[in-house]
Amino acid sequence: MTTKHAGIRQARHRAHRRASVDRGLRHTVALVATLALALAPLAWAERTHLKPGWNMFSPQQDVELGRQVSKDAERQVPMLNDARVDSYLNNLGRRLAAHAPGERYPYQYKCVNDRAINAFALPGGYVYVNRGVIEAADNEAQLAGVIAHETAHVALRHGTNQATKAYAAQVPLAVLGGVLGSNSVGAVLAQLGAGFAANSLLLKYSRTAESQADIMGTQILYDSGYDPRAMAQFFEKIETESKGKNPPEFFSNHPSPEHRVERVTDEVDRLGGPPRNYLSDSAEFREIKRYVLSLPPPPKAGARPQQGSGRSRRPDPPSNRFRSFENETLRMSYPDNWQANGQGNAVSFVPVGGVVDDGHGHAALAYGMLVNVFEPHTDRDNQASLEEATDQLIDDLRHSNPAMRVVRGHERVRLAGGRALSTYLSNDSPLGGRETDWLITVLRPEGLVYFVAVAPGSASADFERAFRAMLDSVRFRQYQ
Ligand SMILES: [Zn+2]
Repeated sequence: MTTKHAGIRQARHRAHRRASVDRGLRHTVALVATLALALAPLAWAERTHLKPGWNMFSPQQDVELGRQVSKDAERQVPMLNDARVDSYLNNLGRRLAAHAPGERYPYQYKCVNDRAINAFALPGGYVYVNRGVIEAADNEAQLAGVIAHETAHVALRHGTNQATKAYAAQVPLAVLGGVLGSNSVGAVLAQLGAGFAANSLLLKYSRTAESQADIMGTQILYDSGYDPRAMAQFFEKIETESKGKNPPEFFSNHPSPEHRVERVTDEVDRLGGPPRNYLSDSAEFREIKRYVLSLPPPPKAGARPQQGSGRSRRPDPPSNRFRSFENETLRMSYPDNWQANGQGNAVSFVPVGGVVDDGHGHAALAYGMLVNVFEPHTDRDNQASLEEATDQLIDDLRHSNPAMRVVRGHERVRLAGGRALSTYLSNDSPLGGRETDWLITVLRPEGLVYFVAVAPGSASADFERAFRAMLDSVRFRQYQ
């Protein structure tokens, strides 16, 4: 809409100037102005209109979620941390983002010290560009193309749209549907078992989302005065150059929609071809590229945690060193090579690689522990007993996990000095085969607090040991 108005204003402005220069042509100019006014909106209307899809998060929560996940991300990927490069990327990125439609996110752009040609964007405007993109781009417009593509993913809210769909699809065990009351970002993250480790969820987009980001990225390039063909040219270039070798990493995060280049070329046509005096390159870009190429090589990739779905990668054994976690309900410890994600009553403790793609594009917990509070249904004044409340919870769990079976139920145990029940469940593992879900339940003033320890049947004894140590460390908040 804004671009439409800008177009109209421009046409009017031009007409004015000419009219004052040549009074004799006033009528002709007026006619031209009318024509321009009539034609401009039509020409603009040709561009493909894109809007964000269904989303249960608010734009503000996109920012909150992005900020939270960006902290994990910056610990897990090697950041370049070079003020000169980051400020160049930020300037370029913000110039582009000014032309992204929709919500005004606090966009920020940082460089990752990785030579793989890749980039990723988190909800709310946290965009990361590998140095490999700067090194591989032939000119500024190509780099701008990649940044515009990432910016479009943010503007179209693809990350939280996918999280919304995953949530609604009742991800096996990772999302326990109606069992969880609060929809706060942290709680949803915990339910999805998603830290940055679950990047298959927030970062690996569908082909439809890719196509949308290509089209909007091309529009952003055009509106910023860059050669709008540059993005597609860059994709083609890196694809051609990698023929016979591994495809660039970019295409695993951003799978190629069908006819990628044709669709973008078509959008350039709809925009009426490249804008007049379009930008292709800048002295600044050439300088930054030279500078980045002169920097020492990045650290070896093997030294840092693996990205992507951990389907083929087994998590490292749980560390014997523990870290402390605290929320409104309890305090407990977890291995210091795992991640705690949560807010309110819900939390997940997950090793790197513990969340995997279940084969249907959903993130599912394969290794780790979930803690949450279930509100038992009570009939009239009758408080549900620990046994009744536990059975209700298992019913609910089986609703979203139909393959779940009780293996061993209602064994009395003690947790944090109080009465608890231990139940062993067996379920389909997202890794294939069966998994054991060890469920511990305790009645507390806030409801039935439950712990689910998840590991595939083949998991080593290390995991069992870590789960026991975690449960032993639980201390509940005291109520006066
Ligand atoms: Zn993409």
